[in-house]
Amino acid sequence: MPGVLVFTESSNGKLKKASREALSIGRTLANAAGGDLVAFATDAAAAEDAGRYGAKKLYVANAGAYSTESHTAALAAAVKEANPAILLFGGTSNGRDLAPRVAARLDAGVASDVDRLEWIDGKLRARRPVYSGKAFATVEVSGTPAIATTRPNAFPAEEAGGGAAAEVVNVSFDAGDARVKLVDTHTPEAGEMSLAEADIIVSGGRGLKEATNFSYIRDLAHAIGGAVGASRATVDAGWIDHQHQVGQTGRVVSPNVYIAAGVSGAIQHLAGMSSSKHIVAINKDPEAPIFRVADLGVVGDLFQILPALTEEVKKAKAH
Ligand SMILES: Cc1cc2nc3c(=O)[nH]c(=O)nc-3n(C[C@H](O)[C@H](O)[C@H](O)COP(=O)(O)OP(=O)(O)OC[C@H]3O[C@@H](n4cnc5c(N)ncnc54)[C@H](O)[C@@H]3O)c2cc1C
Repeated sequence: MPGVLVFTESSNGKLKKASREALSIGRTLANAAGGDLVAFATDAAAAEDAGRYGAKKLYVANAGAYSTESHTAALAAAVKEANPAILLFGGTSNGRDLAPRVAARLDAGVASDVDRLEWIDGKLRARRPVYSGKAFATVEVSGTPAIATTRPNAFPAEEAGGGAAAEVVNVSFDAGDARVKLVDTHTPEAGEMSLAEADIIVSGGRGLKEATNFSYIRDLAHAIGGAVGASRATVDAGWIDHQHQVGQTGRVVSPNVYIAAGVSGAIQHLAGMSSSKHIVAINKDPEAPIFRVADLGVVGDLFQILPALTEEVKKAKAH
């Protein structure tokens, strides 16, 4: 019975959060469609974790380090074997890169960055935030399989409660002549959590005044166990790398807690974070637009508030 195939990514056998979230919603959809939940990985060590999230089988292809071409070929081969009704990708850089390519190869439809998924009358129905999160579009995905990429943190990662490892099925594929080769890989600075994985994000804006003052943001992020975010103004100024940028031309995030300090709340920034569960804004201007989306607003100087908050977090953690 055709079910749901989820593209997963892992490190040392542990699935990334985005993959766990995609598997969890995949399980719900597989139940609704009356099929099995299966997964795809490039490392068989993910079988245990995949089983924990309900995958019956893990299709494993030896595709090496990530490249769009090899992974497209490998995943297309797995789709041929698994014949799923639905193919899901977590909204990581690789997932968002791969989904349209695989969709084109399979002549299937794809809904990207979705925050709601349902299986209704044999069709995948997806909800997507549009116009920078000001409206939602509900779309029906045509073609087989119906493909979607999930928005990080939109679907809770819930274990299936069974526990058996997924059965590993090796997939062979023809990668063809690679036109792209991996030249170098840059890992984030040591100890820095990625925005997509984080439950808490502490973001800094132009209110920080200069690059070195990002230490105020990093100190709180490290103390609280969160990731460092940034507005585009700070990225454009060269204060921090683009991988930290939140917004329309950066990352779209929806952590449990988003703390914005010295960020005005321009519409393009809000497009990337307004779906966060709890928003805390620190700004010295009481009229700053960020306060319109904030659940908790602190009007004041971030150079006083951030160190005090960091101290309180450290004290609370010490108890
Ligand atoms: C096509 C396009 C795409 C864009 N994409 C993005 C995007 O992806 N992400 C993004 O962020 N922006 C994006 N922008 C830019 C966006 O319009 C804003 O220019 C940008 O977000 C402003 O950054 P900011 O809030 O850090 O700076 P500002 O708007 O300059 O705000 C700084 C804030 O800091 C406050 N402040 C100053 N000093 C202190 C202090 N001591 N304590 C507390 N608060 C203080 C000020 O009151 C102010 O509200 C985009 C723009 C365009 C045109």
